[in-house]
Amino acid sequence: SDEAVVPPESLREEYEALSDEVRRHRAAYYNEDAPLISDAEYDVLYRRLEEFEALHPELVSNDSPTQEVGGEATAAFAPVEHLARMYSLEDVFSIDELEAWIRRAEASVAAVGLPPARWLTELKIDGLAVNLLYRKGELVRAATRGDGRTGEDVTHNVLTIKDIPQRLAGDSHPDEVEIRGEVYIPTKAFNEFNEALIAEGKAPLANPRNAAAGSLRQKDPAETAKRPLSMFVHGIGAREGLSSSSQAETYELLKAWGLPTSPYYEVLDTYEEVLAFIERYGDKRHSLIHEIDGIVVKADDFATQRALGHTSRVPRWAVAFKYPPEEVHTKLLDIRVNV
Ligand code: NAD
Repeated sequence: SDEAVVPPESLREEYEALSDEVRRHRAAYYNEDAPLISDAEYDVLYRRLEEFEALHPELVSNDSPTQEVGGEATAAFAPVEHLARMYSLEDVFSIDELEAWIRRAEASVAAVGLPPARWLTELKIDGLAVNLLYRKGELVRAATRGDGRTGEDVTHNVLTIKDIPQRLAGDSHPDEVEIRGEVYIPTKAFNEFNEALIAEGKAPLANPRNAAAGSLRQKDPAETAKRPLSMFVHGIGAREGLSSSSQAETYELLKAWGLPTSPYYEVLDTYEEVLAFIERYGDKRHSLIHEIDGIVVKADDFATQRALGHTSRVPRWAVAFKYPPEEVHTKLLDIRVNV
């Protein structure tokens, strides 16, 4: 018969408690810039929700945190609709999961008759996603990711960040182009800023990621201007008329237009090379200019990206490898977050 299977009430309650818990932590992280638990703890909770849903697909609702990009456009800022959707990234937490992901993607690419994917491999910057809209080469709007469709207008605050050009160099840019990247606080500047706060008898900022998010989401741009914010760009949204055909070629263009691109990316041919990259940066992840929370692997070619497509939450052509959590924790709960 086609009678719907009614899940026992206790199962539904367990599911709702778990998804509410994830939602509560998302709100603290994205809306308040003040997480209540560590990222590693959040990742475990989120993974538990995914596993629960895999076992009980009949319970999954469209507004589950697994079906949506985390975050929202809060009422503190004017809403901005992105021209092209902004996505999150699928996470993998072990090299076995990464290998399985890459092998699956390779099979999908082969199945549609495209040449083997090359993997643009780069650092996952622990900052805040921002979308820059340039019209005729002029920065006209900057917005946070929000729920991926609508973000928060932070144009005045972004204009105080020296890395970000108000006007693009050259004339090879499309009339209208959305450029995505990460606003972050460099580790050295973060430590110096905190030392200055402590010297003034003020509470230090808890960690660079939440400090960057809190600094960018200030009501007063003069306050943002005092914070040592930087940016690296790592993607594009609306792009009609863009001449490049791959991620790497696009980074070269973005650089030529005067945008801050990361010096740390490489285009690799095999899973083994990606693994070597991950091991190399695992050893030196604390001596880089910014904090990282993993490595991002992207199919380089745009035709391959289009063929692999995306879900409602993440592209299928990219994946984030997360390094295992470390023993030393910032005592997040002991420090008053000063943003
Ligand atoms: P995500 O941060 O894991 O990945 C998506 C984002 O990565 C993109 O939006 C992009 O801005 C960013 N990114 C950084 N470097 C990039 C690069 N080189 N290329 C492409 N994108 C890059 O996804 P998410 O859904 O925003 O959030 C999940 C993250 O936030 C996890 O790390 C999670 O632990 C943390 N989080 C923590 C809490 C908490 O309570 N502690 C709550 C919610 C989320």
